[in-house]
Amino acid sequence: MAAGHNNVAAVGTANSNSIYGTNFLGVYSQGSTHAQIAVLKANLRQYRSITPSYLWTSTPSLEGNTSNAFDAATTANLMVFQSNSGLTADGSYGAGSRNAMHASIGVSPRGWVRIFKSTSGYINYNDTVAGLANDATYKLDHAWCTSSCRDTLYSIGYAFYSTYSKLIEVNDGSLMDGADTPEHSTHQSGREVDIRNAGLTAAEAKKFLEICIANTNVSRVIYYTNHGLTSSKIYIRADHADHFHVDTVN
Ligand SMILES: [Zn+2]
Repeated sequence: MAAGHNNVAAVGTANSNSIYGTNFLGVYSQGSTHAQIAVLKANLRQYRSITPSYLWTSTPSLEGNTSNAFDAATTANLMVFQSNSGLTADGSYGAGSRNAMHASIGVSPRGWVRIFKSTSGYINYNDTVAGLANDATYKLDHAWCTSSCRDTLYSIGYAFYSTYSKLIEVNDGSLMDGADTPEHSTHQSGREVDIRNAGLTAAEAKKFLEICIANTNVSRVIYYTNHGLTSSKIYIRADHADHFHVDTVN
């Protein structure tokens, strides 16, 4: 089922469930029973198998624990995962933990990669408290793109940082499986990413456009103004006043 998840335990809302024909919960915690909890336990077993054993010395094993029940052992393993991922270790699996699990062990059926949570060139707004709150309607993870596109985000972000010592905020790319998404009319190719302009001065926004124009892997930038720049790559659209939409070639 194309629902923005693949091998990782899915979360959802009434809105996303009605679109995709799923029954995912927004949060799973101790006492819950759901088919996705068996997936979560498999995810935790996999994560545990690829992380140092000293992290898990006092944590009960999930080996052979394949039921749909969220038990105390699930909570304990999830809390190690959360603290190791820089999250609040509350033992509840919601969209923030899902994003972190996607980043750790998620496999895109399209062969795409996940935009990093933070780098020296950008931050992934999808993984911030504000970004997660803004995604409450559907709880989908729009942080996936091609590896070339992710490299380009770093290049343009680092060029911008080198000038202004300010990290750009990368917002939505595509869902990991390229599924149609209710929040965008496009964003299914892995080569489309939105960049927020919150907090940018006009001069900074103009500089960002210049950096995009100069990048050979950027094919188009949609924005509400060209800030006086003339380039066939800039498409002016009034509905892009709060973000740049960047398309890449690869
Ligand atoms: Zn866009």
